[in-house]
Amino acid sequence: MKVAVLVLSLFVALGAVAQGAKKAAPGMGHAKEAAKVPDAAELKKMSARFAPTELKVDLSGLSEGDRKALAKLVEAARNFDGLFMTQLWSGNHATYAKLKKDKTPLGQARLEYYWINKGPWSSLDGNKAFVPGVPPEKLPGANFYPEDMTKEEFEGWVQTLSEKEQEQAKGFFTIVIRDGSQGTKRGGLKLVPYSEAYRADLEKCAKLLREAAALTENESLKRFLTSRAEAFLSNDYYQSDVDWMDVDAPIDPTIGPYETYNDEVFGYKAAYEAYINLRDEKESAKLAAFSKHLQEIENNLPIDEQYRNPKLGGSAPIRVVNEVFASGDGNHGVQTAAYNLPNDERVISQKGAKRVMLKNVQQAKFDKTLVPISKKVLAKAEMPLLSFDWFFTHILAHELSHGLGPHQITVNGQKSTPRAQLKDLYSAIEEAKADALGLYALQYMIDNQQKMGLTGVLPSGGDAEKQLYTTFLASTFRTLRFGLHEAHGRGMALQLQYLLDKGGFTVRPDGTFAVDFTKIKPAVRDLTRDLLMVEAKGDYAAAKQMLEKGSKLPPAFEKALAGLTDVPVDIRPIFVTANQIAPAAK
Ligand code: ZN
Repeated sequence: MKVAVLVLSLFVALGAVAQGAKKAAPGMGHAKEAAKVPDAAELKKMSARFAPTELKVDLSGLSEGDRKALAKLVEAARNFDGLFMTQLWSGNHATYAKLKKDKTPLGQARLEYYWINKGPWSSLDGNKAFVPGVPPEKLPGANFYPEDMTKEEFEGWVQTLSEKEQEQAKGFFTIVIRDGSQGTKRGGLKLVPYSEAYRADLEKCAKLLREAAALTENESLKRFLTSRAEAFLSNDYYQSDVDWMDVDAPIDPTIGPYETYNDEVFGYKAAYEAYINLRDEKESAKLAAFSKHLQEIENNLPIDEQYRNPKLGGSAPIRVVNEVFASGDGNHGVQTAAYNLPNDERVISQKGAKRVMLKNVQQAKFDKTLVPISKKVLAKAEMPLLSFDWFFTHILAHELSHGLGPHQITVNGQKSTPRAQLKDLYSAIEEAKADALGLYALQYMIDNQQKMGLTGVLPSGGDAEKQLYTTFLASTFRTLRFGLHEAHGRGMALQLQYLLDKGGFTVRPDGTFAVDFTKIKPAVRDLTRDLLMVEAKGDYAAAKQMLEKGSKLPPAFEKALAGLTDVPVDIRPIFVTANQIAPAAK
């Protein structure tokens, strides 16, 4: 699952701010006017929401063999843009080819935005069409099912299948087509495995993966690339998913059919995507250093000892990488900043899942969105306190914090979990907990860095604390911008309100925001304690109260958010390093 991208794609309108004050972005038109497609000027504004950003990755640490293997993997991954477009809509390639021939300014503006979305529907605007002559909205079943198929027809048809075929019909790696013989007992529907449906593309990819496998010296990577190449042709991805979990190599690729978000009918069918990444050695070392101290942090949580976990279990592996190239489902609309894979429950139960964090993509988002946001919400004198290093370190701490705190609880003598007790409020509370506890844990590490052997691992510089909290304050606006209708936004509003009440954050008369460094530390500790206790007790009423308070942020926030409409929403990567080592075919 793409966690970070999910947050972003839930965003509805650029001006969607607190208290449901939803304003359409300038020039975006309104939902009801879907039939009217944008003109060239409007399309330019829509495209400008994605700031072009060069992604460069240092290859100097790679062996000669790995460098050549990397080029093969980029070449393989390039096939997935076209393959994904096929999966998204049957008319996608023909429409795109027609636009390419249109040399008018309008045609060119359409073409540019088409490539960003990999189709004729604008992902930031509820998947509404922005070119004429196409379905007005993205088709819920994409090109995984016949366009005229109903849910009922599918379900009725599945009943007639053998157990094995039923599994495939509801599986990740088949499409359903009309077999041309209406009136047969199968109602004219037919299963086609991906390995047949997309044979030509997959054969090309398999060949390139095998070539890459022959070039790399790393055994775990060799094994994954070989089994993934086999999977492309056999349609059985199980072993290659298992091998992917074991990859421990300088090149860390994710390539295959994975996410099912584009199948909005059933959520069964996986779309092809690729992320060709290099492991970030420095951040991986930081993560390993933090991981060694998790039990110590748990033992020092600001809650009564009875609620702490005396023996933490093993946590899911986290990898920090830099993206060299992304394609297909991994490169349209808002860019993925992190993902959890695989999605196959059989693999998860055997091997768990791996979380991959794309550091240079996070850096690009920081530079192109958080820096301009900060210029508007922070005082000028405080801009030097904005730090990507702390921004990213807090994201790492947030991820690790999900594993800390109460997970097995007792309510009225019964064993339970915070998730079961807090139900619909759990995600918002858990996200807020991970943020607050992330700050608390980092403060603990700053305070004890010599004793913990973390000197030189934590971002350095005398203003470490000031940078941590100021960067966090600025980043809250980036989250709030995506609306209060989902867990991260609601969880963030809760934290802001709490820290304002405790004086840790303040609103200045000129409408900028600041950290009160004398009050922020105890405020974060109290917030962490309260959130942990809501989870420890499974206290639904307390969770609700905290969230409700958060939904009433002072008007200064709405005003600040309204002033951010011209700040880009996301980035549009230009893969400089990939284009150097494996240029796109003309
Ligand atoms: Zn989280």
